[in-house]
Amino acid sequence: MHCDGGIGEVTGVHGILLPRGHESLKPGGEDEQQGRWFRHDEPSVLSYIGELQPAVVGRIEAMTRHYRIDFRKTTNSAYWMNHCAACGMKQGDFGLYCEPGGPFSPLDGWAASRVVLHMFPEPFNARANTAYGDFFFENMRRA
Ligand SMILES: [Zn+2]
Repeated sequence: MHCDGGIGEVTGVHGILLPRGHESLKPGGEDEQQGRWFRHDEPSVLSYIGELQPAVVGRIEAMTRHYRIDFRKTTNSAYWMNHCAACGMKQGDFGLYCEPGGPFSPLDGWAASRVVLHMFPEPFNARANTAYGDFFFENMRRA
C-alpha cells in the first residue's frame, strides 16, 4: 500500500486476524457485574491492538520490525501499528483495517488474495477493536 507520508512509495503492512471460533468479552452493563464471553462464528480483523503476550510479540518480531507498538497522538494511545519500511512513518490503523477496500478489508477475492496468512498456535488475547464482515477470507493465501 502507499505510505501515509510518501509520494507513490509502497510498503508492506501487517495485521492480526482471529479465526472463527474466537471469543470476545462484552463488558458488563449496569445489571451485570461481570462481562460475558461471546463466541464468534466468523473471523475478525483486529485494529488498535494493545499489549500482546511475549510469545506473540516474538512471532511478530521474527517476521518484521515495521509492525510494533507505538504511541499515536491523534488517538492519544499506544497500540500495535505499521511503520513504512522506507521512511519509518506511522501508518494509521483506520485506513488499513477499518476502511472498506483497505488492505485488510478487501472488497473482492482478488484483493483478498494479496493477503498472506501465517497461523500462530500460541494462545492470544488482547484489548482491540474487532471488525466482522465478508472479507473474502477464503481467498487469502496460507503461508
Ligand atoms: Zn514512507
